[in-house]
Amino acid sequence: MKKIAVSWKAVQKIQNLFPWVYDNEILKMPANLPGGETVEIVSPEGRFLASGYANPASKICVRILAFEKQPVTPPFIENRIYEAVLKRKEFFAETDAVRLVHAEADGLPGLIVDSYAGYLSLQINTAGMEKRRESILGALRKQAFRGIYEKPDARARIKEGLPAEERVLDGEIPDRIEIREDEIRYHVRLRGGQKTGFYLDQRRNRKIVADYVRKGARVLDCFCHAGGFGMHAAVRGAGVVRFLDESRAALEQVEENASLNGVRQIETIKADAFDYLAGNVCGRPDYDLVILDPPSFAKTKRERHGALKGFRHLILNGARLLRPGGLLAVFSCSHHVEMEDLVRTVRDAAVETRRRPEVLEWLKQDLDHPVVPHFPPSLYLKGLLLRYP
Ligand code: SAH
Repeated sequence: MKKIAVSWKAVQKIQNLFPWVYDNEILKMPANLPGGETVEIVSPEGRFLASGYANPASKICVRILAFEKQPVTPPFIENRIYEAVLKRKEFFAETDAVRLVHAEADGLPGLIVDSYAGYLSLQINTAGMEKRRESILGALRKQAFRGIYEKPDARARIKEGLPAEERVLDGEIPDRIEIREDEIRYHVRLRGGQKTGFYLDQRRNRKIVADYVRKGARVLDCFCHAGGFGMHAAVRGAGVVRFLDESRAALEQVEENASLNGVRQIETIKADAFDYLAGNVCGRPDYDLVILDPPSFAKTKRERHGALKGFRHLILNGARLLRPGGLLAVFSCSHHVEMEDLVRTVRDAAVETRRRPEVLEWLKQDLDHPVVPHFPPSLYLKGLLLRYP
């Protein structure tokens, strides 16, 4: 097998089970290594550290598949997929929409698989996984899912030098797939929809937040997508739920999901959330719950500062809409923003509003998106549920 020698700093990280090697940590690498090639990672004096796959064109030059000396064969990949699926069996009691494979957190860097009522949404996001496509599809096909739709993360694939195209790989994929989260039902659109189709990572937070919704509550769900949070609130008997998103397609899904769940007390608002909140701060503060679940503002470390400024704006103006005792749920889905950053931003905003919130809940992604302590970026979704006096 081809060998890549890495710096002492990288040796230490790998010994601590961190699964990436950056391009500036490489000491020696074979010339003209094709993207996705299986490699052995060795210390400067040639000692085995791990096996993985390389992509010299990427900043993350090697992604580790195994820290033990074992051949990284097609059955190895297939087994990892079976293990990941098996681990999630207990989820299916409460929902039929589950992330089955979550990349590095399941020992399968570059691979994401979601199941929506048995229809799979598949992302093969690195050259290394692209090279193992047949093993991946083989393992998934053996488990008798109803269909497979490839819905790549275009940004990730382009970085890896791969084409990005959505397509049906297996079976017939309906335009709308009905899924269930406890008693709530949603339509998911794979074709043309956002990301892998639906934001499964927020499942447990939708439920936690819904437990605080009282009958007749007034709710504003900002960055609502298909209505994830607000639909739970409406079904729990909220008096009015306003759904806000800049995407018309998302709001159409909200309307559809409202009929599916038999709720009428909804309104949709197509707007930029920043502008909308800034324009409404003078209104009567009469919301019981405001949800802020924006897309990732910090895709890189460098964008972190700007992201926090954005959060400050949202939190400040969101809190201004709350009646005394109202709740604000705020989320960040970038691993570059830490929980501590979010707390600090809440604190800074509170200095301006002179209202000191209490933290009711510390929130994170649901369990089918595992958090692995030796891979800190695996904890990417953080949230707070706050009560404002
Ligand atoms: N809360 C949702 C997921 C939100 S995903 C759930 O539980 O399923 C983020 C959403 O924010 C997307 O639907 C996207 O269209 C929307 N969005 C992105 N930027 C926005 C902006 N500036 N104003 C309003 N909506 C925005």
